[in-house]
Amino acid sequence: MTKKIPITVAHGDGIGPEIMEAALKIMEAAGAALAPETIEIGEKVYQRGISAGIEDSSWESLNRTKCFLKAPITTPQGGGFKSLNVTVRKSMALFANIRPCISYHPYVKTLQPKMDMVIVRENEEDLYAGIEHQQTDNVVQCLKLISRTGCERIIRYAFEYARANGRQKLTCISKDNIMKMTDGLFSKVFREVAAEYPEFETNHMIVDIGAAKIAAKPSIFDVVVTENLYGDIISDIAAEVSGSVGLCGSSNIGKNGAMFEAIHGSAPDIAGQGIANPSGLLHAALMMLQHIGQGDTAEKIHNAWLKTIEDGIHTGDIFNDQTSKKKVGTRDFCTAVIERLGAKPVHFRAVTYGLPERKQAKIHDVQLPPRADKKLTGVDIFLHWREKANASALAKSLNALAPGNLKLASIDSRGLLVWPEATALQETGDHWRCRFLAADGVALGHENIIALLQQIQASGLDFIKTENLYSFDGVRGYTLVQGQ
Ligand code: NAD
Repeated sequence: MTKKIPITVAHGDGIGPEIMEAALKIMEAAGAALAPETIEIGEKVYQRGISAGIEDSSWESLNRTKCFLKAPITTPQGGGFKSLNVTVRKSMALFANIRPCISYHPYVKTLQPKMDMVIVRENEEDLYAGIEHQQTDNVVQCLKLISRTGCERIIRYAFEYARANGRQKLTCISKDNIMKMTDGLFSKVFREVAAEYPEFETNHMIVDIGAAKIAAKPSIFDVVVTENLYGDIISDIAAEVSGSVGLCGSSNIGKNGAMFEAIHGSAPDIAGQGIANPSGLLHAALMMLQHIGQGDTAEKIHNAWLKTIEDGIHTGDIFNDQTSKKKVGTRDFCTAVIERLGAKPVHFRAVTYGLPERKQAKIHDVQLPPRADKKLTGVDIFLHWREKANASALAKSLNALAPGNLKLASIDSRGLLVWPEATALQETGDHWRCRFLAADGVALGHENIIALLQQIQASGLDFIKTENLYSFDGVRGYTLVQGQ
């Protein structure tokens, strides 16, 4: 007998317990070798005053099984509560979010009958680091941090996922025409990694047109790999146009663990009525079975599920006049899937998880890039300054303060050059970036920047942030000001 794999299961809130019962029952009937351990998460835990929504003791199970099948929870209203998903994602270092979006035309209503795509979203970096500051009365900032290792890890995983799942094409989505350094790095690493996987067709799309194409012509996509924010947005667009938000599952994958869940919430409006569709959680459970090496069982369940759908056995959320034959509740739907275990769909193409090419996708170790020859070449000093906007006057006083080895090169306001030339009509603002570059032949050190800052402080100007400017192996490590 196959060894039972321990998994951690949370039944969640609202419809959670009903759909989890169905998913576990189907997996048991299909012969999945699982040893589920139950933990409590969500509303009741939050109500006990635990702001993370998960007891410390639950981590013992999660840290041991490293495999979490999670039903949706109800997020409490009001402040002071932390997102359970974010906590779990961070604690288990789940760097990849995988969301297959498939339409089941004509059985599930959709505007896009030929959709079968998977979105691989980076889960840890980007604007989601939550590093935000108020800098002036007028301006707040959010830092977008992208690392080469973070890009490489997710992009390699996307290629490995494509390989393990018999997919053929990868599309990288970014906004590298505007964010040339951060998004530019993501698409550059995509091109580098793609060269190591020559069997795949690859292309790149700017996120605006990419999102539009996903909404209007999703059949052109196979696997999409993208950064955290774009992935968040386009995966909801894709799920929505597939017509099957209630049927979508997702996985969050890391080197040391994985979490699987439906993409919908706890649906409190229908909780306790026995009418919820368990398919979203079931699809997440199938991803879990594949992840723990039980792809053959996943295949059996997936085909039985497709057969149930094409036999017109539908829960209320997908019931329709044209293709539905019988409206069922959660338990009867579960029974219908179990009755079809071993059967293959006729209309839909049968899925084949069990084949060698549908093994678990490999997670590569990634290395820090080699140390470059890094030279300090200048500094951007940001000022909170709200005199009647007069960049020339500001430039004059800054030039007088600069200690010879640093020269004022430009002043801009939120990226728009205002000195030495103004590229736009000057508006009144209070946030000014003053760029100082090393004078010809000067080898700058931190002490030169500290000396400049002391001069600025003594003059009464309010500096709110500094950003050193470097070259790496002789290549400029910062963007030019717009208009330069
Ligand atoms: P929801 O996804 O729970 O429900 C939206 C609509 O879809 C409702 O009409 C609901 O009845 C229906 N629906 C959802 N799942 C269904 C299913 N399996 N079968 C049939 N119908 C289904 O979204 P919501 O109402 O905005 O959120 C409810 C709660 O869930 C909130 O507290 C929210 O914060 C939480 N939530 C949790 C997660 C999670 O745990 N991962 C994700 C999203 C929302």
